[in-house]
Amino acid sequence: MSVRLLPDYLVNQIAAGEVVENGASVVKETVENALDAGADQIIIDVVDGGRTLINIVDNGGGMSRDDLEKCIQRHATSKLPDDNLLNINFMGFRGEALPSIASVSDMTIDTCNGADSNGWHLDCNTGDVRPSDWQSGTRIRVQNLFAKTPARLKFLRGDRAETMSILDVVKRLALARTDVGFVLNNKWRFPKNQDLMERIVAVMGEDVRGRMLPVDTESGSASGMKLSGYISDPTLRRASSVDQFLFVNGRPVKDKVLVGALRAAYMDVMHAREFPLCALYLNLPNEMVDVNVSPTKTEVHFLEPNHVRAFIIKSLREVLAKTMVPNAPVANDGKMYFRESFGSNTNAHINRSVSAVFQPRPVNSGFFTENKNPDFDNSVSVHAVPRTDTNVDDIFENRPLGRVVGQIANKYILAATADSLVVVDQHAAHERITYEKMRKHEIKSQPLLTPIVVQMRAEDVVAILSVADEMRASGLAVDAFGDDAIAIFEKPADWDMNWANVLHDIADEVRAYGHSAQLNEKLHLKLANHACHHSVRAGQKLNFEQMDALLRDIERTEHGGECNHGRPVYKFIPLTEIDTWFER
Ligand code: ADP
Ligand code: MG
Repeated sequence: MSVRLLPDYLVNQIAAGEVVENGASVVKETVENALDAGADQIIIDVVDGGRTLINIVDNGGGMSRDDLEKCIQRHATSKLPDDNLLNINFMGFRGEALPSIASVSDMTIDTCNGADSNGWHLDCNTGDVRPSDWQSGTRIRVQNLFAKTPARLKFLRGDRAETMSILDVVKRLALARTDVGFVLNNKWRFPKNQDLMERIVAVMGEDVRGRMLPVDTESGSASGMKLSGYISDPTLRRASSVDQFLFVNGRPVKDKVLVGALRAAYMDVMHAREFPLCALYLNLPNEMVDVNVSPTKTEVHFLEPNHVRAFIIKSLREVLAKTMVPNAPVANDGKMYFRESFGSNTNAHINRSVSAVFQPRPVNSGFFTENKNPDFDNSVSVHAVPRTDTNVDDIFENRPLGRVVGQIANKYILAATADSLVVVDQHAAHERITYEKMRKHEIKSQPLLTPIVVQMRAEDVVAILSVADEMRASGLAVDAFGDDAIAIFEKPADWDMNWANVLHDIADEVRAYGHSAQLNEKLHLKLANHACHHSVRAGQKLNFEQMDALLRDIERTEHGGECNHGRPVYKFIPLTEIDTWFER
């Protein structure tokens, strides 16, 4: 066999293997091109998760006829004016994206740069350019993705999962450029010139409002690093890294050094299986970082990774430390409490909440086991409460959440420690306990006389069966019931949910996350969310024994400080705070 140069179309398809993994990578590359062309409004439409159509319209500078002809040639770029790979100021620079995408799809480009009286249309399959009535900016239409390379088509996931990956790409770019407007499928809208905090809320959800802490630090002149953006207060967390957005010199990245530094900064205040939220922008001189590491440009090489890491950890710890009150009590394990400092805090707009970090003790009794009846009407508790106990120090020593004082509005439990008043959200507390028990496989299940049968599509049945073991560990025993139904044979005794919803939800998660480490977490979260409708509701009257049992259970529960939705479970009002009310 003699050596030969591969034909262009093959070279491009090989390159596409690296650059174009799915619809999301097409959207990433084309939107980055639009940004590089100076667009401030980008409209993205995708059909069937990008498989059938990806349409990107931008109002950027457009291309001349000449540039249009060149842009789909390999390594054709307008973005390396000084040929210096260490001084990159555009999102793109490799000149690979358009030829790669064109080689695995049916692509057309319409563009107009304003200099010509008309626009131009390029059919990338034939290479033909003809005049068009396109008025300004550029439209890229990518149809039939991977139809030319069927082997790759097989790797695309379900439409919903693919659309979610595309949304993720758009969110990352939307946070990179708050000055630019983005619209995806007319459904997800990020208006241009949005304030950073508003865009964070638009990207991450309403629940983050008022709970993100501002970051703004500089390393000093030597290394010239600057870190800005927002990180979540420790009570706000997710079960996966979905809401971690990291940027290096304006470029969205998924970099191990940065992710590791973020985790290290939260080490003392968050469990390793939970993830803080952030939109963090690291800026450093171009010569300190190499962005030309991976074809997709999401990884970077730092010249001095240890400096970067140390700078980030120090910066974030300083921000997190401000959420701690200096005289906070220390739990038995020596960990610090977080607590609200009502009114007196400098960052009054940040609604900081309490998150105590208790090490769990072995669970041998408690609210859950003692109170089988979900209505708690005639439950008998083994927790005798010495309510007249006078040795407050002793109480505090053993009970970080203190002794019960009473209930307000059938909604909150009031308790007192040696130096604080504690307010506990009874519903959130029970929800947290359920979730943790599920995670630790402490939910007991009960066989059903008649199985519950849920009709599902064949692929959903397959998805559910693939996590049957994990579901059993959470108290649910399921099996296939023909090709298109799932039967539930065992379930936790007092869980009566809409099982069709639960199973479809889980099937979606499996398909979106595959068998990743996050899946288990997702599964528990889904179940806990459904189960939470069976938790102690707000509006339920509790007696002292029930309230005490709930407090003691929460103390034993890992992450007892927040419910599954990240809302706080309890707050401390320090005595010193109360003293100021009465001018003492
Ligand atoms: P790169 O972005 O690395 O230069 P691409 O293959 O993504 O490589 O694009 C090739 C060239 O096509 C770009 O350098 C740019 O000149 C031109 N181009 C691509 N998309 C657009 C667009 N939306 N508007 C204007 N010019 C574009
Ligand atoms: Mg590009």
